[in-house]
Amino acid sequence: MFKKTFALAALLLATVPAQAASKIYVMTTTEDLAALAREVGGDLITVDSIAKGYQDPHFVESKPSFLLKLQKADLLVAVGLQLEIGWLPPLITQSRNPKIQPAQSGYMEMSQFCNILEIPQGQVTRAMGDVHPMGNPHYWLNPENGRRIAKAFADRFSSMQPANAAQFAQRYTEFDKHLSEAEKGWEAKLAPYKGRKVITYHRSWPNFCEHFGLNVVDYVEPKPGIPPTPAHTLDLINVMLREGIKLILVEPYFDLRTPNSIAAKVGGQVVVLMPSVGGNKETTTYFQLFDYDINLLVSSFSKVK
Ligand SMILES: [Zn+2]
Repeated sequence: MFKKTFALAALLLATVPAQAASKIYVMTTTEDLAALAREVGGDLITVDSIAKGYQDPHFVESKPSFLLKLQKADLLVAVGLQLEIGWLPPLITQSRNPKIQPAQSGYMEMSQFCNILEIPQGQVTRAMGDVHPMGNPHYWLNPENGRRIAKAFADRFSSMQPANAAQFAQRYTEFDKHLSEAEKGWEAKLAPYKGRKVITYHRSWPNFCEHFGLNVVDYVEPKPGIPPTPAHTLDLINVMLREGIKLILVEPYFDLRTPNSIAAKVGGQVVVLMPSVGGNKETTTYFQLFDYDINLLVSSFSKVK
């Protein structure tokens, strides 16, 4: 019955005369991907994100509203590298949308287009931590990877809607130019702090720090995804005192008690940086995300000398 109806619907669609193609409905797992899709898709697409930028993207609670959106999606775009492994696979299955099942053309992971750091060598074991078994999934925090993601979106949208390919290409070119200009400003602002050592809570920042010349020495988490332990916290205090490290960068969804107590012991400062678009009201675009984080870092560095 279902198959018959489906076949009939397909037949009807095929006989409808050619007209302006409807918007591509894109679902992304994170707001960063949604923001980049919007840059190149403009009003030719509709885009929605499952996780909000203020949520920990490794752990997202399912909601029925996600399924309704996934059922309608033409394209589902994930970060990949198992960032979403704890919550996305059941949503995809339950959506029953044949287009967005893994291995179908309506599902894509942006990691395949990006430079990936911290790819484990040799065998991966649980002892290495709970997350990041395939490399660091926080790669969107290097603008060069943002550029690659935008290009991948432009190419994919063009293949889905060849009639609009020129517009997608044009929008990508504009984004690329805007990003290159913004990067010059960001690099200039952080240039005086090149080589500065920092501690971060989770390994969210290697891409950002490598690009902008900051040096991540250690983490509040003893292993990715593992909460702080007293022994590791003590080690961290000693490292910070010995090396004169003052800043602890923390994502907005982590408990501030341990970072605050470490900062108090070393005369340092906790800085809540946004790892994602949508982390707060001031970070609603990919550009604003870097503006916000870089301005905050500059003011924090200047305070601690
Ligand atoms: Zn992570």
